[in-house]
Amino acid sequence: MTTLAAPTAVAELLRRQRAYWNTGATRSLDFRLAQLKALRTAIVQHQAEIIDAAKRDLGRPEFEGYIEVAVISEIDYVIKHLRRWAKPRKASLALSQRPGSAWVQPEPLGVVLVIGPWNYPFQLIISPLIGAIAAGNCAILKPSELAPATSAVLVQLIETTFDPAHITLVEGGVDTAQALLAERFDHIFYTGGERVGKIVMQAAAQHLTPVTLELGGKSPCIVDADVNLEVAARRIVWGKCLNAGQTCVAPDYLLVDERIKAELVAALQQRIQACYGENPAQSPDYSRIVNDRQFDRLVGLLGQGTVLVGGDHNRDDRYIAPTLIDGIGWDDPIMQEEIFGPLLPILTYRDLDDAIAAVNQRPKPLALYLFSRDRQVQTQVIDRTTAGSMCLNDVVVQVAVWNLPFGGVGSSGMGSYHGQYSFDTFSNLKSVLKKPFWLDVDWRYPPYQDKVKVFRKLIGLS
Ligand code: NAD
Repeated sequence: MTTLAAPTAVAELLRRQRAYWNTGATRSLDFRLAQLKALRTAIVQHQAEIIDAAKRDLGRPEFEGYIEVAVISEIDYVIKHLRRWAKPRKASLALSQRPGSAWVQPEPLGVVLVIGPWNYPFQLIISPLIGAIAAGNCAILKPSELAPATSAVLVQLIETTFDPAHITLVEGGVDTAQALLAERFDHIFYTGGERVGKIVMQAAAQHLTPVTLELGGKSPCIVDADVNLEVAARRIVWGKCLNAGQTCVAPDYLLVDERIKAELVAALQQRIQACYGENPAQSPDYSRIVNDRQFDRLVGLLGQGTVLVGGDHNRDDRYIAPTLIDGIGWDDPIMQEEIFGPLLPILTYRDLDDAIAAVNQRPKPLALYLFSRDRQVQTQVIDRTTAGSMCLNDVVVQVAVWNLPFGGVGSSGMGSYHGQYSFDTFSNLKSVLKKPFWLDVDWRYPPYQDKVKVFRKLIGLS
C-alpha cells in the first residue's frame, strides 16, 4: 500500500510499473494465469474479512457480502477462456488484397489506472483488475475512501499477493485520485458518478488516455399488465432493496400499466414485509446508507408525493426503510437525479407508446427493465429504447452473466467490461497484415496511365 504524499510518489510508482512492464514479464500467458489464480486464492483466504468489511462499511448482511466475493466466479471464467481470447483472431482478405494473411493480435496496453466507488467497493476494484491482469497489464488501483474497511482489506490482499511493480494499490480520497489522474496512463477505468466521470475524462484528455467510464443514472423498470405479479414483485423488491438500493443497476423507478398499479403495490408491500418483516430496521438482512451525506440527500427526496409504504428513517443508524412513493410527476426532484437508495417512485402509463416516449426523453440509462409476458410488448421495448443493458422479467442479474458486456451508454457511461469484454477493453486489438514477396502486381504504382480503370473496378465502380 502506498500513501501518496507528493506527486513525486505517484511518478515513482508509475516509473516502477513501466520499468516492470517493459521487461515483458506480464505478456506471458502463464504469468497472467498464475496471477489470476493467486488473486483467486487470496480472495478465498480473505473472504471472512471481505464480508465483515462490507458489513462495517454498509451494514451489509452476510449473504449480500458474498456478492463481493462472487468475483471469483469471473476469475474462473476468465481462466477457462483466456488462452482462446489471447490468440490471434484471423481476418479474411478481399481478393484484391491477396496474397497475404491478416489477423487481430491482442496485446497489453501497459500501465492502467482503476478507480472504484463505495457501493460494491471490493468487487468494483477487483472485477476490472481481473481484466487488466488477463490482458497482461500492470495496474494501479484506487478504491473509494468512503468504504474504509473494504479499502483496508484490499490493501492487505493486494500487498500480499502481487509484486507492487505489477499491481499496487493507493489509498486516499479526491487529492489522491487527482494526483494519479495527472499522470499519463495507458487506460483509465473509472466506476462512479457522472460528475466525477467528467473530471476523470477531462484529466485523461490531457494525455489522450482512453477511458472506460462505468457511471450510473436512472434505470427505469416498466411493468406491463401481462405479468406474473407475485414473481415480478419478488424480483423488484429484491433488486431495489439489495444493499439498501445503493446498486448502480437497481431499478430506479417503476413505470406501471395503470390497470395493475393497485395490485402491484399490494404485491410489493407484501414482499417487503415477507423479506424484512414488520420493521425492516430490525431485519438482519437489510443494509444501511453509506454515510450521513447520502442519508440526508435521500431523506431530502422523501418530501415529495405520497408515501405508500415505509418512509421511516433514523439518522443515528443511517436507516431508511424500503419505501414506495406514489403521486410523483416527471418534474419532481426525485425524478431529476439517480436515487441510489431504497426509495421507489411509482409512475403509471396508459399507453406503452407513452411509456417508451417518456423513457426516451431522458438520459440513456445504465439498465432498463421490462416485466411482460407479451412478446409484442417485449419487442417494442427492446427495439425502441436504449440502455447499457436490458433485462426482461428480472432485475440486476444481467450483470452476473460474464459473457454479456456490462457498461453504460450516453451519460450512463462508455465502454464495457466483464469476461472477454474486459480482456478486449484492457487490450490493444492490433491489426496485422502480412504480405509475401512472391507476387507484386503493378496496378497501384505510378506511372498510373490507364490504371484508373483497374482501380475503379477494384473499389466497386463500374
Ligand atoms: P464517486 O464518483 O463520488 O467516487 C468514485 C471514485 O472517484 C472514488 O474512488 C473517489 O475517491 C473518486 N473521486 C471522487 N471525487 C473525485 C474528484 N473530484 N476527482 C477525482 N476523483 C474523485 O462515486 P460514488 O459515489 O463512489 O459511486 C456512486 C455512483 O457510482 C453512482 O452514480 C452509481 O450509479 C455509480 N456506479 C456505477 C457502477 C457501474 O458499474 N456502472 C457501479 C457502481 C456505482
